Amino acid sequence: MNVSLRVGWLVALTSAFAVGCGKREAPTPPVPQAAPAPLVGAAEPAVKPAEPAVEPAEPEAKPAEPEAQVAGRIRVVYEASKQPRVARLRAKLEGAEAFTGLMTRLDAHLTLPRDLPIRFSDCDEEDQGNAYYDEEAREIRVCWSLVREMARDFARDAREERLDRAEADASLVGATLFTVLHELAHALVHVLDLPITGKEEDVADQLATWLLVSDSDHAGADTAIDGALSFLHDAEAEQQGDEELATWDEHSLSEQRFYNIVCWVYGSNPEGFGDLLESADGPLPDDRAELCPDEWKKLASAWPRLLKDHLRR
Ligand SMILES: [Zn+2]
Repeated sequence: MNVSLRVGWLVALTSAFAVGCGKREAPTPPVPQAAPAPLVGAAEPAVKPAEPAVEPAEPEAKPAEPEAQVAGRIRVVYEASKQPRVARLRAKLEGAEAFTGLMTRLDAHLTLPRDLPIRFSDCDEEDQGNAYYDEEAREIRVCWSLVREMARDFARDAREERLDRAEADASLVGATLFTVLHELAHALVHVLDLPITGKEEDVADQLATWLLVSDSDHAGADTAIDGALSFLHDAEAEQQGDEELATWDEHSLSEQRFYNIVCWVYGSNPEGFGDLLESADGPLPDDRAELCPDEWKKLASAWPRLLKDHLRR
């Protein structure tokens, strides 16, 4: 996979995205106490009930299964929008195997105590251009306005010949997927009560990158880089003063998020992704690059342990 194809044009830039994820802190009880842990055993075959697990029941209905035995489903919900061009964007997502395939695999491999909808919808004024995990509703929301903004940014890249049209389309899908996985991380931390320290926003970028790079079924590293590119767009907006450079924010700066993702991708396979190095005309400064294999090793060792009770094989 030629990561540099998408990253080459970044070289001149010294800055970087923020899928303005605002994890909505809802006044909600801290953690779901539905005892998420003892779900289906990790090694159990995918016993995902084909649909709402209603068995063509025997009349002698056995006592209802304890909720913790029922695996929640990850499902993507597309709501209609009043905004222009959304139907086309939706068709791109629905038609992209990179997107639908990974959603299907996550649904098959993760055991959750309850359903986790990923809802694409129009949002309130205050959430325009945002994606977030709603703790109260326990669902991921991706505002159509955010997807439209990213589409606009990648279309500009195509116009300015930083990316060709097909690449720009693929990058839009990739950046959207990265956004969803970032929000999935917030959801997992909440629903599974995962222990973390440090900035949850950075942790969420780590999980998104790890899931993509570890997903051998498709070019996940490219997709992670697509996520990084969208942070670069935000960094450009910050540099131009269109967005505030919020050093106090719970998110790292967009440029830092960009470099973090590039670093982890590089660190996952330094030989394969050597074209990301600054010395090879890539964006990643050598001073950071030398730390990346170790950064990757730590996060790639942590996530399987954090999720081990919640994964099927
Ligand atoms: Zn976030």
